Amino acid sequence: MGDGGDHPDFDTLAVRAGVARTQFHEHSEALFLTSSFVFDNAAQAAARFAGEEPGFVYSRFSNPTVTAFQDRLAALEGAEACVATASGMSAILACCMALLKSGDHIVASSSIFGATVQLFTSVLSRFGVETSFVAGADPAAWRAAVRPGTRLFFLETPSNPLTEVADIGAIAETARRAGALLAVDNCLCTPALQLPLALGADLVIHSATKYLDGQGRVLGGAVLGRSEIVTKAVFPFLRTAGPSLSPFNAWVFLKGLETLRLRMEAHSAAALEVAAWLERHPRVERVYYPFLESHPQRALARRQQRAGGAIVSFDVKGGREAAWRVIDATRVISITANLGDTKSTITHPATTTHGRISAEARAAAGIGEGLLRVAVGLESVEDLKRDLARGLGT
Ligand SMILES: *Cc1c(COP(=O)(O)O)cnc(C)c1O
Repeated sequence: MGDGGDHPDFDTLAVRAGVARTQFHEHSEALFLTSSFVFDNAAQAAARFAGEEPGFVYSRFSNPTVTAFQDRLAALEGAEACVATASGMSAILACCMALLKSGDHIVASSSIFGATVQLFTSVLSRFGVETSFVAGADPAAWRAAVRPGTRLFFLETPSNPLTEVADIGAIAETARRAGALLAVDNCLCTPALQLPLALGADLVIHSATKYLDGQGRVLGGAVLGRSEIVTKAVFPFLRTAGPSLSPFNAWVFLKGLETLRLRMEAHSAAALEVAAWLERHPRVERVYYPFLESHPQRALARRQQRAGGAIVSFDVKGGREAAWRVIDATRVISITANLGDTKSTITHPATTTHGRISAEARAAAGIGEGLLRVAVGLESVEDLKRDLARGLGT
């Protein structure tokens, strides 16, 4: 990402961007736990409220620690503007509330986060916004789903749990022709591995809860993109409706961003090793990981991502019983559906994250009874392999 000029590289921005020291010249970023800010006089208060004078007013919409996080994440994603939110879901909600109205239509990839599907189908639908779901990896399907009211395209890549890769550039072009905006949930790759805006997306969504923190501590989210969208439309919604990021959580994320690239590369290297090992295991039917030679979209994945990320999924021979045996034999890996942590996690999608959809819909989505998803953490790879081998048998 270095351009040879004065613009700092990613690693420098991850550590230095967004720093604004107080009069005490602290070295580490300051944490401003304050709900409001005081003014020198009545005229200044009036000017701050009117937006005529820059400065902080009230932490629902302006706080120096949150601003530092927004500026740093914007620098890393190459975005003009960033608005931080209370969670990943509130980032998606803020985006939709700011950009859509009754009668509008969303086209979304069918393999997106479960709560996002619920938000689109159970909440936005009550306000007259309809969603069509398409096979995200098929650019023609996006084109075919466009209607006169289509305003937003929404995707995640790689998908979770099957790691299907969507071509951001091609889908961005389809969105542009349709007069719609493309939003990419960049949660699994983070800007350390993938830069959707540079590939043509209009908006990037984050659940900062996952890899931006990376250590499983706090919730948060963000919306990034051009100022005309993020500052002019998403920020006013946040200011009025209030799903704002806590300054404490922003401070945790600031520290998380400093090690983001190191962590994502370590997660990816370990995940690739686990994936390759699983692929050679006689009790494993199939492995899903974007940087494996066997992945049907490995070329696209390598063009679009710097590494494969932490998520490895695999089909165990023997269905649910065999899959559950692998889970129950683990001693290191945590049994939880969460991801984005230094601690590795394992889940059985068919009975957890995808348990509420019908068996037919699950089968159509390729989520079999033998499928397991591992979010590879930062423990020793040898220990992780031993942990999985125990339940797989030989
Ligand atoms: C977790 C997650 C979300 C939601 O984020 P929260 O911070 O839990 O609200 C959205 N998208 C993806 C891909 C996620 O993994």
